[in-house]
Amino acid sequence: MHQVSSVAGEGAAIHPGVLEVITGPMFSGKSEELIRRLKRAKIARQRVACYKPDIDLRYHRTAIASHSEQTMEAAVVTPNSERLREALFATDLVSQVDVVGLDEAQFFDDGIQPLALELVALGKRVILAGLDTTFANEPFGPVPALMALADRVTKLNAVCMVCGQPAIHTQRLGRSTELVVVGAAGMYEARCRAHFQPYVEPAAEQLELPEAVLATT
Ligand SMILES: [Zn+2]
Repeated sequence: MHQVSSVAGEGAAIHPGVLEVITGPMFSGKSEELIRRLKRAKIARQRVACYKPDIDLRYHRTAIASHSEQTMEAAVVTPNSERLREALFATDLVSQVDVVGLDEAQFFDDGIQPLALELVALGKRVILAGLDTTFANEPFGPVPALMALADRVTKLNAVCMVCGQPAIHTQRLGRSTELVVVGAAGMYEARCRAHFQPYVEPAAEQLELPEAVLATT
């Protein structure tokens, strides 16, 4: 009888799972694709655990929401890989699920990498969705490394709001220098390479009033 490689000791043969990464700019349909895969897994009677960081309060507190109104029940965790590990292992939930989904993976720390690979070694299908670059066009958190380690990477394009071409960038429209501004309507747009302008911290201009404020006074 063919024996697959064991990672668990105790002679139990566990076939490794897979690591899937869904990435791209905002408005590229990452959450929608994550939800689509998780729903298909449920149809196949696989047991699904779904997480999202509590920083994303965009539509629902306990569901992953895509911009196209697709939702999926999700447990909310702080974007900390140790907290996520505890959520999975402390209650032994990990032994009861086949698929682990995580949205907004860019907000997690680098510990998400070993955790994802540990889950894969336990035979889980791990699906992570997250932004690959910031609005300053820098690699975003752990996502680029997760892309390198994945079995399968799906890099989605959005649509450039200037010209309609495929867009790989998230354009920051406002003046806030905070990296994490989630779901604020009108603060971001998808842009192609030609129309993307990396956000540069306007250190010298921060003391000045925004033009919009000056115009109304
Ligand atoms: Zn464009």
